[in-house]
Amino acid sequence: MTKIDNSAPVMVTGATGYVAGLLVKKLLEEGFTVHAPVRDPNNPEKLKYLNEIAAATPGKVKYFKADLLEEGSYAEAMTGCELVFHTASPFKVNVKDPRRELVDPAKLGTRNVLEEANRTPSVKRVVLTSSCAAIYGDNADLQKTPDGVFTEEIWNTSSSLAHNPYSYSKTVAEKEAWKINETQSRWDLVVINPTLVIGPGINPHATSESYSIIRQMGDGTLKAGAPKWGFGVVDVRDLAEAHFRAGFKPEAKGRHIISGHNTDIFAMSRTLLDKYGKDFPIPRKALPKWLLWLIGPMVDKTMTRKIIARNINLPWKGDNSKGIRELGVSYRPLAESMNDFFQQMVDNGLVKKAG
Ligand code: NAP
Repeated sequence: MTKIDNSAPVMVTGATGYVAGLLVKKLLEEGFTVHAPVRDPNNPEKLKYLNEIAAATPGKVKYFKADLLEEGSYAEAMTGCELVFHTASPFKVNVKDPRRELVDPAKLGTRNVLEEANRTPSVKRVVLTSSCAAIYGDNADLQKTPDGVFTEEIWNTSSSLAHNPYSYSKTVAEKEAWKINETQSRWDLVVINPTLVIGPGINPHATSESYSIIRQMGDGTLKAGAPKWGFGVVDVRDLAEAHFRAGFKPEAKGRHIISGHNTDIFAMSRTLLDKYGKDFPIPRKALPKWLLWLIGPMVDKTMTRKIIARNINLPWKGDNSKGIRELGVSYRPLAESMNDFFQQMVDNGLVKKAG
């Protein structure tokens, strides 16, 4: 049982990111002082969305300079904090050097932040934003689960530097976090394992891969059809609430699958048809697997035949009951998240009307 003092500052790594943005908003609305270590505290463009929220809420945000790969760089920001949210980690699939671009910042960054928690006497809890990517690598892995569903007991064993390197980076980073946590007893580790995050963020121009995936449903990339590629999906606003509760619920412990819906890319795009189907090239049919097999790798180098074989037309199924039961998380309807997200892209010119 860990009780966090509400008057102490709270540190959030990756505060400029998509997922953390709404968590910082929630903390500021609740009146907390947020310590935000960022790579470039002098970049007004990156900080303007957080600053606007801070100006309109009772909380305060203080910036510090830090980098996941710079040892000791989180010391100043962590001083006096009882609660640390570690969300920073790159989320991209198109990389040239997966070790340098994904695995090092994920794993060494986690080590850097958590070893700082070991050196900072005020810290009582670390909430790590891991991912369901640390639970599974491909949808085909579902067939090997004991009950035909992904649970918090399961670890991703199918990803590597060569196959699904992002998922591999999240797996090794979460393992590193548990390893460091077990060496001490002052702070506890609570892990959030979200599925694909969607929904409007505080920065409409965020670079998270979530934006590229949903944008493709309206920019013509998928006009010939969308794959039936099973995914778990969660709204970024519900995820912020889950993080907040994981931070402040004294009894929170272990991993938590945070996922509102078991769905697939085609079914997700269909939720946009009613409102946007007339003006945007929203996919109207499912792309056959054989066609993807033939052209996928030519159109997109991350769409390898192994990915196609092990994911397309295969369902994703996750058990979200622990998060509902122990954190009290609730999930909004998929169509609401999709439509709100797409509308944000329309309002900001990220997708354009045809003709
Ligand atoms: P994002 O918008 O790209 O945010 C990533 C954050 O990490 C940014 O604040 C970025 O800072 C920071 N960062 C990256 N490299 C860094 C480095 N070397 N040093 C310091 N900070 C660094 O991505 P996101 O979607 O919000 O992802 C946030 C977390 O959620 C990640 O841990 C990701 O694995 C996890 N997650 C995301 C999803 C999803 O669908 N989006 C699903 C499951 C889990 P800059 O602003 O300086 O680049």
